[in-house]
Amino acid sequence: MMVAMRSEATPEQIEAVLARIRAEGLTPLELPGGERTAIGIASAIPVDLREPLAQSLEAMAGVDHVAHISRPYKLASREFISADTVFTVGEVAFGGPEVVVLAGPCAIESEAQLRAAAMAVKQAGARGLRGGAFKPRTSPYSFQGLGEEGLALLAAVAAELDMITVTEVMDSHDVERVAAHADILQIGARNMQNYSLLIAAGETGHPILLKRGPGASLDELLLAAEYCLSRGSNRVLLCERGVHALDHTYTRNVLDLSAVPVLKEVSHLPVAIDPSHATGVARYVPAMCRAAVAAGADALLIEVHPEPSCALCDGPQSLAPPVFAALMDDLRALAALGGRCVYDPRKSEKP
Ligand code: PEP
Ligand code: MN
Repeated sequence: MMVAMRSEATPEQIEAVLARIRAEGLTPLELPGGERTAIGIASAIPVDLREPLAQSLEAMAGVDHVAHISRPYKLASREFISADTVFTVGEVAFGGPEVVVLAGPCAIESEAQLRAAAMAVKQAGARGLRGGAFKPRTSPYSFQGLGEEGLALLAAVAAELDMITVTEVMDSHDVERVAAHADILQIGARNMQNYSLLIAAGETGHPILLKRGPGASLDELLLAAEYCLSRGSNRVLLCERGVHALDHTYTRNVLDLSAVPVLKEVSHLPVAIDPSHATGVARYVPAMCRAAVAAGADALLIEVHPEPSCALCDGPQSLAPPVFAALMDDLRALAALGGRCVYDPRKSEKP
């Protein structure tokens, strides 16, 4: 942390700032400049003191501004854990050489629909089955998901096909029952800053797929991850799914692909891309999947529906099974170029 004093700050004001820092047991470092003095802090600042201390210093007479030098998050940061985090869910490793594909319908609609989607994505090489049982819909009149019945279907179909599962939990009161049925808890874009939900999900110790809110900065996403990490979950998969930006004429959101290299630089956590919600248009999804693999994404979350035109939720962005299967072949070729792999069920060994 660095405190920049105003150019007209008096020696007494500078001394008061030094004393305030010393009062916290920290060592201030006075750096007189040509025009103004800056004050650094030579000792490590406890993470829970950073914000209150910065705010208190910023309010002191003679202070121009306070700048943070190190990142506001700790457990999510490479400053704290320098090596890539690789974690497993069942037999599937996230953050390793495999680019893990999680696919399935937006919403679980029926046993037949889920089974058809699951068989198609499994056959094409998806490792995980996605499907929403609790759906965050913009309109209260839209299909809200099958709830508990959907959770049971997801667990049953995935067990039959030996797939891991991911499904959204929308409310902290539902965390336990969703965790009892699913391998990965999805925290959706709308809930990225629902702190009681982040805490409850973190406390389960379950793997978490955390989506970036459409208006959230990457620091806000990492601080949301910090909530889960600091409560005991050490398996957090960050997910970029498109942000709000200038032009929504052609796509539902704008996919921020630079989030992949940036997040992987500042954080050790694996990074997923969800091109379905980012584009909102099925015919744009394959190009964005390819781009995500080229950018270094560790996982993809893709919506696939056996009959997209009949989907109760997000049909226009859902891939039909043959399109998904062709895409998976493209992704295998692309991943190999970058020294990575996408699971191929035609080859017997798993990555
Ligand atoms: C979803 O995955 O179906 C979903 C609702 O995602 P998001 O939170 O990104 O909108
Ligand atoms: Mn969806």
